[in-house]
Formats: sequence, structure tokens, C-alpha cells
Amino acid sequence: MASHYEVLGVSRDATGEEIKKAYRKLARKLHPDVNAGPEAAEEFKKVSHAYEVLSDPQKRQIYDTTGNENGSATGFGGGFDGAGFGFQDIFDTFFGGTGAGAAGPASRMRRGQDALISVGVELRDAVFGTNKSIELETAVVCDRCSGSCCEPGTAPTTCDICHGTGQIQRAVRSILGQVMTTAACPTCQGHGTVIRNPCNECAGQGRVRSRRNLTLKIPAGVATGTRIQLGGQGEAGVAGGPQGDLYVEIQVAKDPAFVRDGDDLHATLQLPMTAAALGTVLDFDTFDGPQPVRVASGSQSGEVITLKGLGVTHLRSGGRGDVRIHLHVETPTRLDDEQEELLRRLAELRHEEKPSAKPATAGSGVFSRLRERFGGL
Ligand SMILES: [Zn+2]
Ligand SMILES: [Zn+2]
Repeated sequence: MASHYEVLGVSRDATGEEIKKAYRKLARKLHPDVNAGPEAAEEFKKVSHAYEVLSDPQKRQIYDTTGNENGSATGFGGGFDGAGFGFQDIFDTFFGGTGAGAAGPASRMRRGQDALISVGVELRDAVFGTNKSIELETAVVCDRCSGSCCEPGTAPTTCDICHGTGQIQRAVRSILGQVMTTAACPTCQGHGTVIRNPCNECAGQGRVRSRRNLTLKIPAGVATGTRIQLGGQGEAGVAGGPQGDLYVEIQVAKDPAFVRDGDDLHATLQLPMTAAALGTVLDFDTFDGPQPVRVASGSQSGEVITLKGLGVTHLRSGGRGDVRIHLHVETPTRLDDEQEELLRRLAELRHEEKPSAKPATAGSGVFSRLRERFGGL
């Protein structure tokens, strides 16, 4: 096994300064943030441990006389942790706080934020789709400077303090002595340039808040909660950065005639008792206009007539759901003498003057509808 001196590549009588120098050189080469190889990581641990021992005069003396650390901290970095100074701190100092090399000036541009708006439509719009004109208030590119942030005719100038690099070097004292560290230039906030004449309109932001009009294409099949994403229609970016996206959340209003269930539309048709008994054909209003509906003679309340393909368009596949018409047979009220007489005569002919008080039983249509509605056995 190589000695700590061999690991650092220094002689046995190297000074503290020489050891420090050798260590820094190796650390820069082997630090995991710089060199990702597995051998480098292993080597880095050895180098760090060797330095931990040899940089401490007391530990170095024990190592020199016994050939091992003999009870000194055995864990990686233990010696430094005891002194309140971990290895990471040293590398932050070496590598400019991020562990990475210099990054150069930072752009002023930033992407604009996404915007979310809610748009209400009628059920008819959900069935067929529609175009809707909306007005929204967002950040838009500044007209005066076209996003450059500068008064027209002026331009950003190179920062005097950092000479356009966006970074300044600072001397920091550490246990390794004085080391140079890099930080964002406070004068130009790291941009490398300074805007001496910010645009009067946008105060140097390159964007202003404004109302704008937009025509939305709302596809057929949307439902409450459907979100439509419009790329690049959100807020304008800072300093000419790209626009965010606009999300439109749909709210479908309640309809007076139809209740939506998925892509099917349910409606109720109120039918006089005589029409239900005798049968009839009538026009029923749908979103596709009046449709002829055939009511068979002897129709009962609760029966459903289906109009195929007249419901809501499927959002993706393009087909359509159905219209489902629920019959509701109305019992005649406010009978005059003649009507009452006719109904009594009818009851006589049908032997219904004294109807049975027995409950309907399984097998009858009425009973199955009861079971459908309330479940159970
Ligand atoms: Zn402007
Ligand atoms: Zn600067």
C-alpha cells in the first residue's frame, strides 16, 4: 500500500505548504464534480485521506513515527469535521461555490409564465365545437423597445466592474490559505452588461401588462374541466425571452333541456295519457333541429326512446353519443263533466272501477324499473 506521501507525490520532508499545493493540484483533477470516473473517485478518497493526516502536524508526527494513524480519526473527512470545516467547504472554495467551472455572463432572458384562464361555453358549443373570442390580461412584449429593455437608440454597455464576464474574483481565507473564489458581479447581476437607459415604457423589463384579444377554437366534445393548451400564448418572457403557454379550462353551462352523461344527452318528454295509450309521432327538439319521435301505443312512464348519434361529439374519435328521451306520462287533471264521464265509462269497460291493491311483482315492467332505480334484489 502506497504511503500518504506517495499518494500526494511529495517527499517525506515536504513542508506544509508543499503538501497543500500537491493536494490542491490533485483535488482539482480528481474531484467528483470534475472527473466522474470510478477510479478517480477512489483515488480522490485516498488523496483526501492522505491530506487529512499530513496536513495536521500532530497526526503527521504520529504517522511518521508509527507508520499508521494510530487512533486518529478514521472516517473520511473526520479530522476536518472536528474542526468545523468539512471537505465540501474546501471544494466550494476551490471551485467557485458550485463545484463547477466558470459559467460566463448570464442572459437576461427568461421564459414567460404559463397562464390559466377559465372559459364558459354552452352545451351546444360542446356538441359541435365553436370559435370564441376572449379578452385576457397578460404580459406582452413591450412595443417601445421590442423586448430589448433599452430606450430606442441605446444598447446595453459592457460592465466596467467585471469587463463583461458577469463574474468577479474574490479572495477568501480558508485553512488552505487565501484562495480565489468566483461570484456573480453585483453591478450587472452577472449579466456582463449594464442598461444605462432602461426603456421608459416597461422600466427595462422588455414586457408590459396589457389586455389582448384572442380567438379560441374550442373543439367539439369538450366537457367541464377539459384543458386546452395553447403553446406560446401565455405571458411574454422577460427581456425578449420565449412566451409561456396558455391553458384554457372549459366550463360547460347547464342546459335547460338536456342533462349530459358522458357523451349521451338525456331529456324528458312529457306525454298526455291519451297519446301514450294511443301512440303518436311528434317532433322533438334536439341540437340538430326537430326530430320525428315515434311513441308506440301503450307507452309507459320511464320508457326511453333513443335517437342514435345526436349526442355530444367524442372529443378524440369524432363519433357522437346518443340522445335518450325519457317518457313521462301525465295523468289528466281538472276534468270537466264530460271528460269525467268518459273516463268513468272507460274504467267500466276495462273493469278498472276497483283496481287491485296488490303490489306489482317481479316480471312486470313496472317492477323492474323500480329495481333499476333503487338496486337491491
Ligand atoms: Zn420597453
Ligand atoms: Zn458586471
